[in-house]
Amino acid sequence: MGCIEHKKSPATKGDSHSNSSGVTVTVPDSPDYNPYDVMEPRLPSKTPIDRRNGKHVKANDIPPEGVYLPNNNILAPHMKSPEYVQLSNAAAITLGIMGGRMYRCECTRCLNLLLTYPEGCRANCAYCGLARHREAERDYADRNFIRVDWPAVPMADIVDIVAKDPENSPFHRMCISMITHPRSEQDTFTVLEQWTDKIDPGAIPVSILSNPTTMTRDDVQRTKDLGADIFTVALDAATPELFDRTRGKGVQSPHKWTKYWEIMLDAKDIFGPQKFGAHIIVGMGETEYEVLNLVQDLVDLGGHSHMFCFFPEDGSLMDHLPATPRDQWRRVQLARYLIDYRDVRVDHMSFDDEGRVKSYGISDAELADVIDAGIAFRTSGCPGKFQDDISACDRPYGDSPPSNIASYPFQPKKKDIKKIRKQLDIPVAVK
Ligand code: SF4
Repeated sequence: MGCIEHKKSPATKGDSHSNSSGVTVTVPDSPDYNPYDVMEPRLPSKTPIDRRNGKHVKANDIPPEGVYLPNNNILAPHMKSPEYVQLSNAAAITLGIMGGRMYRCECTRCLNLLLTYPEGCRANCAYCGLARHREAERDYADRNFIRVDWPAVPMADIVDIVAKDPENSPFHRMCISMITHPRSEQDTFTVLEQWTDKIDPGAIPVSILSNPTTMTRDDVQRTKDLGADIFTVALDAATPELFDRTRGKGVQSPHKWTKYWEIMLDAKDIFGPQKFGAHIIVGMGETEYEVLNLVQDLVDLGGHSHMFCFFPEDGSLMDHLPATPRDQWRRVQLARYLIDYRDVRVDHMSFDDEGRVKSYGISDAELADVIDAGIAFRTSGCPGKFQDDISACDRPYGDSPPSNIASYPFQPKKKDIKKIRKQLDIPVAVK
């Protein structure tokens, strides 16, 4: 299987749709950012009783066998963590358990694992393909997440393959992504132990992408004690208001901004500087000024931000909304890189009345060098073995189609930089 293209066309300029209050909202004609009013999720509809809580899958008693590819349609209720995990298409191809090629990438450097249960994630985040409301139409094991399918594989098989030669593995890092489920903490500990029993975390370090809603400080400590290297919080929304609208009360989902911050600050104390951080999605209705202030807050605390560009995930409550315009995304990507890795502060930058970046707080020559180096536009995430500002987690095409790349999962070439400069409206320098 090659790169997966999105099947539905997201909204484009000039399109209209009704928001949840019945008000018609028109996507602006020349949007160079996604404004708050436009980015309202639709409301989840009611799930029929016979599809709730994985009932449909759990009514069967078929044992799982080996690798489960999405849409196999085998209703295997025992295919669950910690015995089973899901892994990204890119990780499955790199691991050699699935065929396929990725556009302009040889492999991924991060083995992203996702806990899995027939009941699925119990939260309802508006931008997410794994959200609870989808149980009405798709079994959990078949749901797309960050634009790709996630095959389910026995954890023991994954460990056996990687443990053969961890030092020479293509993977620079492993990451366990938690979801909202009552077993999520315990199973994260078990999966982590299974890994560190056979693989030296010094050879392939482990990150935890946490779900704070059900976590305590002791849980954070336990992941550290079991050998995790970096702890991140999937904050995703950049402001408390947006968080509530997309992950909390607004969509009948249980998450709270304050709880996410509580666990992030626990991680700061327990894991220490440069070993904690937050995932943030750009373009869900926050201003550039707001998201870059959040980036600055994280740096001031000693942490990092890992960014995604909003993409309307098929089947999610935001699949009718426009992807983040590339100019907004590039401005934030560039400014975030300067704050995270070049000691530039958000108060050195300037913003217009709409909160858009007007200047980056460094000289034109320095800015040109950073743009041409291209690293600022690569996928951000926990570091691998190349250098601190190059992420192991390259999530190929997790936030855009390959035809219009948002986060580059490889080093951008000259032709890519030319395109990026156009998107930034910063002309190619004449040398
Ligand atoms: S908690 Fe995570 S996996 Fe669950 S719906 Fe929200 S974003 Fe998706």
